[in-house]
Amino acid sequence: MDIKCPHCSRDVQAENINIQSCIAKCGYCSAVFGFADMVPGAAAPGPPKMTVEMPKDYTMENEGADLVITRSWLSRKYLWMLPVCVFWDGSLIFKLRLRPAGGALQEHLPREPVSRGGSRSRGAS
Ligand SMILES: [Zn+2]
Repeated sequence: MDIKCPHCSRDVQAENINIQSCIAKCGYCSAVFGFADMVPGAAAPGPPKMTVEMPKDYTMENEGADLVITRSWLSRKYLWMLPVCVFWDGSLIFKLRLRPAGGALQEHLPREPVSRGGSRSRGAS
């Protein structure tokens, strides 16, 4: 079955036909047209689509033209991480805050005081 352009009545080549959406483009006059009414059975619906349940932690919302899919990570199955996080963060706080004051810095600083004035004659005489 040939599909003919409704504007120039020429045959439309196969590479200019989209069967899924029943749209064709004429290679001669560049007219775009639907051919569902020209071909018998072209607009027949395909097999029914399966409906699949949304996973538990996911929500889907239409916001205008956008589709927003959100996954909630807050769940009881992650509750076991709480003691691990408290221990880990507590050890970091202990390591950084409760050490002797300036203990780590004094190890890396030079022993002699650095003079700022540029004059080194004070201790020489
Ligand atoms: Zn045409």
